[in-house]
Amino acid sequence: MDVKCKLLTPSNRGWIVDVGWNSGQDGPGQRAVIYFKGCNFACPWCAAPETMAFYPEPLIRPERCTEPERLGERCPLGAIDMKRDDAGSFYPAVNSALCRDCREHSCASASWDGAIQLAGREVEAEELVKHLSRYRAFFGSDGGVTLTGGEPTCRPDFALVLLHGFKAEGIGTAVESNGSSPRFAEFIPLIDHFIIDLKHPDDEQHHRLTRHSNTRTIANIRAAAATGRPVWVRMPLLPGINDDAATLHRLADVLQGMPDNVAVELLPYHQRGICKWRLLGRDYALNDIQVPSEKEHLAAELLLRSRGLQVRGE
Ligand code: SF4
Ligand code: SF4
Repeated sequence: MDVKCKLLTPSNRGWIVDVGWNSGQDGPGQRAVIYFKGCNFACPWCAAPETMAFYPEPLIRPERCTEPERLGERCPLGAIDMKRDDAGSFYPAVNSALCRDCREHSCASASWDGAIQLAGREVEAEELVKHLSRYRAFFGSDGGVTLTGGEPTCRPDFALVLLHGFKAEGIGTAVESNGSSPRFAEFIPLIDHFIIDLKHPDDEQHHRLTRHSNTRTIANIRAAAATGRPVWVRMPLLPGINDDAATLHRLADVLQGMPDNVAVELLPYHQRGICKWRLLGRDYALNDIQVPSEKEHLAAELLLRSRGLQVRGE
């Protein structure tokens, strides 16, 4: 059964994890990037696990505390259990069901040393538009603001208010999405640059990995492609999961015949997000997976090029 998106707040307010900055990575030019809190998928390789849950969660850094064994005392509900690994280092285990219903978040306010910080804050859409509009000169003519996550379309009303606001300010918009939203059509007129993730071209495998069908994602890629605006279709390159020739040909089958504004991008699996799983007190399930070599990455890109697709990257 599909896990549904949750909208927890009225349209002009929404939960984000952070606002970051990058160049050319999440859309063209210089960009501000709004990381939404909450995603309807549950990808085990997620490099931003602090964006997955729809509620604020503690990020726990025992090394910042002089008595890490007592960090659990900072949660009055008993959600934090400090454990020790074989090397003697402390790490947390967190009962996230308690955090989901927590309203006080006193673990963070009790952490003057920064050992516990909350991932997630509620913001006003209008305030965020006003704040980022000050950077118009930095964005230039081709840059702008990217909504990513988490999954921006899981807070559809809040995200739409943001997009309307940036468009009204003449600021370019990009949205990175897993493409699963039934309300994606409402977003299309407001997006200058689409980044849509397709985790696996095979529906059954996609469902196994994410708990969602890819049917709507593919339909939304087609709808975005029909606008003539740039569409980047991103697939994580996961060794042993979706990097075999048959899967890459299947991806090519899905994208072949799409217009020139569609380009595919293979994002090699990496392990930079693992430390965040540990800070959240969650287990990381893909410890045995290897990072693809540059040669494997290039070979996969070459296969897609040989099928006539436009491929972003070297
Ligand atoms: S968010 Fe609430 S329940 Fe979770 S660790 Fe902090 S105080 Fe405890
Ligand atoms: S869709 Fe993206 S944000 Fe959501 S769980 Fe998967 S990798 Fe993480």
